[in-house]
Amino acid sequence: MSDLNTAMIEQYRNSFLQEVEANVEEGEWVKMCMQCGVCAGSCPLGNAWEHPPQEIFMMIRAGKREEVLGSESMWMCTSCYNCIARCPRGLPVTHIMHGLAHYAQRLGLVPRNQPTQRFAQMFWDNLSKKGRVNELKLGMSLYFMNGFGEGIKTSLKMKDIGLNMFKAKRMSPTEAFGGHKVKDLAGFQKMIKKAKELEDARIQKSDN
Ligand code: SF4
Ligand code: SF4
Repeated sequence: MSDLNTAMIEQYRNSFLQEVEANVEEGEWVKMCMQCGVCAGSCPLGNAWEHPPQEIFMMIRAGKREEVLGSESMWMCTSCYNCIARCPRGLPVTHIMHGLAHYAQRLGLVPRNQPTQRFAQMFWDNLSKKGRVNELKLGMSLYFMNGFGEGIKTSLKMKDIGLNMFKAKRMSPTEAFGGHKVKDLAGFQKMIKKAKELEDARIQKSDN
C-alpha cells in the first residue's frame, strides 16, 4: 500500500465522501446526485461496466472506498458527454469519472495492467516529447505492450488498417526516425513544466 494511500485512509477515516470532495476533480458535486439513473441509462457502455456512474456515486456516499478506487469502471469512460448533457442536476459526471481515475492512480490503487491506464500513460509519454502524437510509435507501443509475440500477432492482424493509413497519408514511415513536432518545442515544454508545477502545488495543498 502506498504511503499516500495510508495517509488518506487515516485522514478521512470517517468519510470517503469528504475525501472525494477534497481530492477528486469536481468531487464536490457527488453529493448533488439524486440517483435518478439517467446517466447510467444514457451511458453507451454503462451496461458493460461493473459499476455505472450512478452506482459509483451511491458507493462513494456509502463509504465503499476500496470498491470504488480499485474499480475498473471509471477507466471505461470514453468522454462522450451523454451523461453531462442529460443529468437533471447538472453533475459533471465525465470529469468526476476521470478525477476518480486520476486519484486512484495517485494512490497506487489502479487494477494491475489496466489497459486504459497503460494506454493513457503511453499516449502522454508520446505526446509530451514533441507536442504532437507520433502515430507510428504510439501504434507500435500499443501493439507490443503485452510482449513481442503478441505484438507480432497484433501487427499482422492490423496490417490492412496500417497500410490504408499510409496510403491516405495519415501515417508516415519517416515518423520512425523522429517525427513531426510543434514549432516552438522549447515553449511547449516550458508550458508543460509550469502546468506540472501548478498541479503539484494543488495536490500538495489538498493533501495538507
Ligand atoms: S443523471 Fe445525475 S442525478 Fe441522475 S443519477 Fe446520474 S449523476 Fe445522479
Ligand atoms: S461521458 Fe463517460 S460516463 Fe458519461 S455517458 Fe459517456 S462514457 Fe458514460
